[in-house]
Amino acid sequence: MSEKQGKLLDGKGAVITGATSGIGYATAYLFAVNGAKVIATGRNEDRGRELISRVKEAGGEAYFIKADLTKPDDLDLLVETAVQKLGRVDILVNNAGIEILKDIDETELDEFIDLYKVNLFAPFYLMKKLIPHMRKNNGGVIINVASTAGLSPYPGGGAYCSSKAALISLSKVAALENSRYGIRVVAFAPGLVQTRMFFEGVPEDKREEYVSETAKKVPLGRIALPEDIAEILLFLASDKAWYITGSVVIADGGLITGRRESGNVPPEGKK
Ligand code: NAD
Repeated sequence: MSEKQGKLLDGKGAVITGATSGIGYATAYLFAVNGAKVIATGRNEDRGRELISRVKEAGGEAYFIKADLTKPDDLDLLVETAVQKLGRVDILVNNAGIEILKDIDETELDEFIDLYKVNLFAPFYLMKKLIPHMRKNNGGVIINVASTAGLSPYPGGGAYCSSKAALISLSKVAALENSRYGIRVVAFAPGLVQTRMFFEGVPEDKREEYVSETAKKVPLGRIALPEDIAEILLFLASDKAWYITGSVVIADGGLITGRRESGNVPPEGKK
């Protein structure tokens, strides 16, 4: 499923948050070259501009709207401008997210709330505002980018894991409330993806080693690239995925299914 194989999203209007880096950037580009008119939103204007010109060079249509998702005024302006520019909103990808890795007793209330503003409150608000437009159009697709962290928590993930678990639950509720209007809502749970978030705290010259060491934990033996994840989101946003709603779609190379190696193996090998 690539741009060569036709335009899966022809005529669709799409809003994608966190589109200036990582998964969001790759998704905005792929959606646009697959026929969608894309609103890419984020805070980094340079990256936004660069994305839009890449899309234009490839013959697609995209607009950048600067917005900080923690600011209610920015959210309102984003919705207003998106509706005005797209005419209709068919697809919303709530992709922006932040992570903190701290034990609960070390986490400040303010940082917990700030994380929730991006990971949960903004997706809630954008759904609240865009669902009425989708209902008027008799259809739409909302993809909320959660994480395997929302299904399989770990120490230090008090804020992050709980926000993603809440996003999964919110997605299921939204799916149930909107199925009668032809709107699909999917919670998407990626495993490990090579983005800024994945490399946080890893020095540039140690990245390669970090990828190969971490990949050993993944049953499929690889850490995904943002472009790999964008292909899955393209499918989920397209009409080909028409029977998928209310689900958590996991793409993690088998990471949370179990360990890569057999347990309890004696030193000489076979039991
Ligand atoms: P990333 O850091 O490249 O992307 C996150 C994006 O969110 C950035 O563009 C950032 O600017 C944006 N963002 C953060 N705060 C914002 C704010 N206040 N206003 C507007 N935008 C804001 O990392 P990514 O991996 O591409 O993350 C995308 C999504 O994927 C996130 O929701 C993340 O939780 C999820 N995810 C990532 C991984 C991984 O291994 N990379 C795994 C599971 C889930």
